[in-house]
Parts: sequence; structure tokens; C-alpha cells
Amino acid sequence: MDTLVSLSKRRGFVFPSSEIYGGFSSTWDYGPLGVELKRNIKNLWWRDMVQRRDDIVGLDSAILMSPLIWQASGHITEFTDPLVDCKVCHHRFRADQLDGDRCPDCGGELTDVRRFNLMFKTFVGPVEDDASVAYLRPETAQGIFVNFFNVQQSMRRKLPFGIAQQGKAFRNEITPGNFIFRTREFEQMEMEFFVKPGTDEQWYRQWVDNRYNWYIKYGISPDHLRIREHQKEELAHYARATSDIEYTFPWGWGELEGVANRGDFDLRRHSDASNKDLSYFDDETGERILPYVIEPAVGPDRIALIFLLEAYHEEPDKDETRVVLRFHPELAPIKVAVLPLSRKLGEEAHNVHSLVRSHFMSQYDDTGSIGKRYRRQDEIGTPLCVTVDFDTLADSAVTVRDRDSMEQVRVPLDALVQKLKDMLKLGE
Ligand code: ATP
Repeated sequence: MDTLVSLSKRRGFVFPSSEIYGGFSSTWDYGPLGVELKRNIKNLWWRDMVQRRDDIVGLDSAILMSPLIWQASGHITEFTDPLVDCKVCHHRFRADQLDGDRCPDCGGELTDVRRFNLMFKTFVGPVEDDASVAYLRPETAQGIFVNFFNVQQSMRRKLPFGIAQQGKAFRNEITPGNFIFRTREFEQMEMEFFVKPGTDEQWYRQWVDNRYNWYIKYGISPDHLRIREHQKEELAHYARATSDIEYTFPWGWGELEGVANRGDFDLRRHSDASNKDLSYFDDETGERILPYVIEPAVGPDRIALIFLLEAYHEEPDKDETRVVLRFHPELAPIKVAVLPLSRKLGEEAHNVHSLVRSHFMSQYDDTGSIGKRYRRQDEIGTPLCVTVDFDTLADSAVTVRDRDSMEQVRVPLDALVQKLKDMLKLGE
């Protein structure tokens, strides 16, 4: 993990936040390559969840919402973690993550458990009193539930259908850490899939499978993933069933994504609390029903971490070690690098770059030996390098090098873009 954190900083994926001021606990900033990686993850999710389906639409709701929403959803009373402190070393822990009843760091005695609400509180307007309290949303899901009626009516949707949303969420986590795995400010990608009661079990299974297969499709080994179904005692207050898709992180198995069958909990709570009828008219039976909802919920920061972990490879190369990020081409921040063998070929190489850059996220690099430049691209996971050499001036062709096999092929310039498309297979 330390190796990955250091590579992330050195190569512009993720920087410690507020670093010049000594940092700020467990906050991270995405650098030029990290922002591309995370954007690719969010775009792929959106493409596969919204764009390529007939039954899901998108939404972008506000972060600050009426506090009545958090009251109705149960977050003000229930969204707590059990907090304990060590009386000796004063370290702080989540009681549900401890094995014994003494401090894991020094063996000291622990305080009684206190419930700690994870929502960040703030004030709206100039007066800081109880009437102006607002919360930074701890999940994006509630923005979807309170817009259920608006979306269903405006888009004339029939069950089953889903509403997807991506955006920032905030939780005052007691124990943030493990790089970008758990932070207090993070992003979520959540989709609420509304179904007729009675069909929920089947849809729940379908979404667990769908989401598991999504990770396999983009290069996660099945050996590194597992589905863990929650026991009855473990279920959250709103859930009829939940499965976590877990990844084997360097510290052990941990939640990557949760898929929950939330029943009609949310729509019922908001109907009751707002006095607005959020039921759905089923024109097949002529009855009004409260839909059940299946929710796949995940954070793109956690996904970025698993794709970085999965992609990282060190392999012997002559007398040295080649570090290579074997990203799926869809995820690679840079798809194609254009490298002139010599600076004297600058004009020709810039022309090649202009040809390539309107089709692919690309980079131009003319500093250092060609071997060093290949290594730099390997280290950031660029699938293809295009080298312009002195022969290019005569034969109007370039060399395309594949990151994984390191094989090189000569390609005429007028066939280059199509060849790169065939090799990258984007959009499949
Ligand atoms: P945990 O038990 O790890 O605190 P959770 O079960 O509370 O997580 P959910 O409420 O199900 O998490 O959130 C859905 C998803 O959002 C998680 O699977 C994870 O991918 C992401 N997520 C939740 N909390 C954080 C966080 N603090 N930092 C980064 N991602 C997070």
C-alpha cells in the first residue's frame, strides 16, 4: 500500500490534501491523472447504468436539503457509530470494529460506548441557531427518494425503473484511513431501482450479479472479489436484505459496494412525514402501491483504489524492475502517448499528436531517452505508445508499442487512428 501511495503522489494520481500546511487528516486531492481515472470510473458507471439502459434515468440533487428529510429517513437518530476511547492512550475506536474489550494499541481500559452521529452539521444563513441547522448529505440516496414523484411523473415512468445519481457525500467518520478507502468527504454513485412488491427478491439477486460482473468486466480478478450476504442481526434499520461486494484489500476483505433491498421503507417514511402521497398507480391492477427499492451503492474513490491495487505490477526487466499499471484501456488516464525518437522530429510528431488527440486522451513526451519514456508511460498505465522515428519521414508510418506485451507494430499514418481504435476497443 505504501508503494501505491508513493507512486500515486509521484506520478500525479493522488496528493495528500493541504500538504504545504502539514496536511489535513485523511483528506486527499486527485491530481491530473487521478482525476482522469476517477472520471473514467464515473463515466463508465453512468454509461452502463443510465445511457445503455432503457429503464434508468439520471438525477443531480442538492447536497444541502431540508433537515426534515434526515429526520424522516432516520439519519438524525440512527446514523451513528459506536465510539469508545482508551482511558490510557486516548486513542479512539469504533466499538464494532474491535475484537476484545481492551485497547488494541496499549491494552488499556476502554470507556463505555457512546453513539456518535456521523452527519456534518452546518448553519444556513447568518444566524447560527437551531432553526438554521442543516446537514451535509451523508448519502446521495435521499435526494433520489424525495424526487421519486417528480421523476416518475415528468418522465412518465412505469415500474420497474431506476434513478441514478453521482455526487459528494460527507460522513464524520471516527476512523478514516487506508488512503482513499475511507475519508470524511467522498463521492457516491447510487441507483435506486423501484419495483413492484413481490418482484423485489428477484431484482435484488439480479443487481448483485450485475454489479459483481461489472468489476470483472473492467479487469478485477474473480479471486479478489466475493459476495457477502448480511446476517439478519447485521442488517441496517431500513434493509430487508443486503449483500456486500467485497474486495481483498492489503489489510483483508473489505466492503467495496453494497446492494440492499430497502423494501418500501424510504417512500413510506417520506410519505408519512411530508403528508404527500408517494404511491404509484398500477394501471394493470388499478391499485395504488408503494414500490419497493433495490439499491446498489458504491464510492468511486473506493473503486479507484481497487483498480490501482489490481493494476499495479512489478516485473523483472533486464537488470531493472519494470513498474506497470495494467489498467483496462477504458480506465487508463492516458490512452495513447506520442513520442518522437529525437527532438529533431518535433514537427512531424506534433502532427501525429494532432491526429491522435481529437480521438483519444493523449500525451506528448519528448524528454529523456525513449526507454525512459516507455517506462514512464508503463508506470501510469498508458496502453499504447506511438513512436515517430527518422523512417517516418520517408515511409509515413509510425511504431505502435503495446504496454502489456511490449510488442511493436509498424502502422501507416493514414491507418493509425483506426488501428489504435481496434487495439483499445473502447466503448464495447
Ligand atoms: P462502512 O461500513 O465501510 O462504513 P457503509 O456500509 O456505511 O460503509 P454505505 O452506507 O453502504 O457504506 O455506502 C455505500 C458505499 O459508499 C460504500 O460501499 C463505499 O463504497 C462508499 N463509502 C461509504 N463510506 C465511505 C467513506 N467514508 N469513504 C469512501 N467511500 C465510502
